[in-house]
Amino acid sequence: MFLKVLFLISICTKFLSANVNVELSSEDIANAQTILVKFKADQNEPKIDRIYAAYEGVRYPFYRDKFSKGRSFYALVPTSYYSKVKQTKMVIVYIENGEKFYITYPVSIHEGDYKSEKLKVAPSRAKISLKNKRRIAKEQKEAMKIYHTNTQKLYIKHPLAYPMKSKITSAFGNKRLFNGMLKSYHSGTDFRAKKGTPIRAVGAGRVVLVKKRFFAGNSVIIDHGEGIYTGYYHMSHFKVHKGQLVHKGEILGLAGATGRVTGPHLHFSVRVNGVQVDPIQFLETFNLLVE
Ligand SMILES: [Zn+2]
Repeated sequence: MFLKVLFLISICTKFLSANVNVELSSEDIANAQTILVKFKADQNEPKIDRIYAAYEGVRYPFYRDKFSKGRSFYALVPTSYYSKVKQTKMVIVYIENGEKFYITYPVSIHEGDYKSEKLKVAPSRAKISLKNKRRIAKEQKEAMKIYHTNTQKLYIKHPLAYPMKSKITSAFGNKRLFNGMLKSYHSGTDFRAKKGTPIRAVGAGRVVLVKKRFFAGNSVIIDHGEGIYTGYYHMSHFKVHKGQLVHKGEILGLAGATGRVTGPHLHFSVRVNGVQVDPIQFLETFNLLVE
């Protein structure tokens, strides 16, 4: 089976149609980074459909690229933080005039330049009551359901911005080690923020969660459509409600220190097609599409 697939890929690559142009934002990425794939079909090519990117065992959909003229599509392909360092590949598959095509791109995954933090105590949940453990599990389940919902409409109209103009105090991806073992990692980017600092939507979208949660405290999640979600945590006050449509720069809430934190700040996170990614690298990569 595997050989058959390889053989198919090798013969089909020769037939790569001249009517199609594919561009990857990078073929050498770190764990937790996102690749933007642009797919452009010639105007004279009437029948191209069912395009997807196969990467690390997952198929990622292509969407119409409304920021480009002509028959353009895009896909956002995330790599998990827990991905191993390796040489892998991405296969772009599409059907043109009823015939299936495969284009293979080599992709290198290297280890991100993430700092290590040594934990002094075991990250056990022993000190968390049974009631809270149940609450945490429920909150996680609810978040996962949101992140795996794919809204077939992109709300974003402009380049994405930062949620506030402030210093980044803790970068995404810091490794949390206990006895030399990776226990967890910092799942977002922290911005320095005094209590009451306005937190703004990085782009247009729909508010899908406004809730006080155990670890994240007062949290807002925005669905930007087409598998893109942003999260804003530890707020002191909410300024939006669930279901509300927000535009880029709209105030979602005020910074605070709610949830499990030592002081006020904004924890900003991004999920793409269900995968937690480096928020800043994501903003830069997505903006390659818009600008
Ligand atoms: Zn954080």
